[in-house]
Amino acid sequence: MTKIKLSTASYKGARDFPPAEQQKFNFIVDGWKRTARQFGYQEYGLPLLEPIEVYAAKSGEELVNQQTYAFTDRGGRQVAIRPEMTPSVSRLVAQQKNNFTFPVRLFSVANFMRYERPQKGREREFWQLNIDIFGDDTSLADLELATLAYEMMAQTGAKPEMFKIRLNDRKLIDAVLIGKMGLESEVAYRLTKLLDQKDKIAPEEFKKGLEEFCPATEDQTFLLELLNFNEPGQLPPALADFPEAQTLVQVLAQLPKLGITNAEFDFGLMRGLDYYTGLVLEVFDTNPANPRSLGGGGRYDGLVGLFGVEPVVAVGMAFGLSTFWNFMEGHGLLPEQQANPTVAILALDGQILPAVQLAQKLRQAGIAAEVDGSERKLDKRLKAITKKRINHAVFVGEKEVESGKFTLRNLADSKQDQLLPDEIVASLQ
Ligand code: AMP
Repeated sequence: MTKIKLSTASYKGARDFPPAEQQKFNFIVDGWKRTARQFGYQEYGLPLLEPIEVYAAKSGEELVNQQTYAFTDRGGRQVAIRPEMTPSVSRLVAQQKNNFTFPVRLFSVANFMRYERPQKGREREFWQLNIDIFGDDTSLADLELATLAYEMMAQTGAKPEMFKIRLNDRKLIDAVLIGKMGLESEVAYRLTKLLDQKDKIAPEEFKKGLEEFCPATEDQTFLLELLNFNEPGQLPPALADFPEAQTLVQVLAQLPKLGITNAEFDFGLMRGLDYYTGLVLEVFDTNPANPRSLGGGGRYDGLVGLFGVEPVVAVGMAFGLSTFWNFMEGHGLLPEQQANPTVAILALDGQILPAVQLAQKLRQAGIAAEVDGSERKLDKRLKAITKKRINHAVFVGEKEVESGKFTLRNLADSKQDQLLPDEIVASLQ
């Protein structure tokens, strides 16, 4: 028989999370969930697979044709591993329309797959926090989205100068490109894709595209002026009176009154996905070593209605774990590996059952306990336990079992006491 040797590498673009990494993952996700709950959002869960048409309807060509993991299942159904949550959560809202009380605030933390070229901050399997309000068409929802984006960052301990919130509005983009410049909507659509790529492609390529989609030089000049505008908290004067700019004007004026001073207008912000209908935003690290967006979203009023119910307005956004992690790591906001709260119970002289009984007693009192039954030398066993960052050990040997008192050792200072099981529990609590 030939001997096979399997590779230990994870699937390309997908990450393994050994315990030390999973601890950081949990730290980030716990912060997200805590903040979402503070704003009144409720957690939900949804399947990994959806019928492909759920994405084909609105997510955008690139995502559906080039990036989904799509296949035919054994029953002949065309399905895709979810590349994003927004269509699925819209499906849930359409399905639960009669059970939900609107406006409804929902969040989830889940994994997704997109067939992208893996690079820093871009993976094929990645994790996102998705957070959405359904059924609120007032400006509160737009303001809350921007506030939430800020709080998701601030709760990590991040200072305002470490990140930026960029804002734009899809209606305003259309008002400029279609309304003011008179571009066909198809050309305007392709121009938005170009504007979206501005900082990712070579300047010559951008210039060439601009000339193709927007031939009038005065339009090109106007667009470049809009793109280069960077007065914090303001809109370019040429846009401030557009009726389509009023949500932005309002949100930009309100945020400083909530102590949020790092939000700014960015006409180059398009968001890659097609379903946005109003305000759009993205959060960026100010550290140039982490250039990809940490999160983004906006208003998307048309998705729920695709599922055959009366339309429900929506705003929402997604934060990505990879870039968020890079942000926290880069700014020193991820904690060092934490101590392990488990207590190690060492069976000596073959006293396995009494050691297991003691562990059972500790667990019943809410203390995590693991039993070490190995027959190696005591110093080796203690070294291994220290390496696991465990701070307390209890010895269960023949003498201890006879006397009913066990040695509890604090491994940090090597102090130890002979204690009854109840005293051990009290001391550890
Ligand atoms: P999107 O779903 O494309 O609107 O992206 C929202 C956020 O998810 C982005 O800002 C990223 O932080 C994250 N994200 C999207 N695609 C990926 C990916 N392939 N790998 C890692 N993070 C991603």
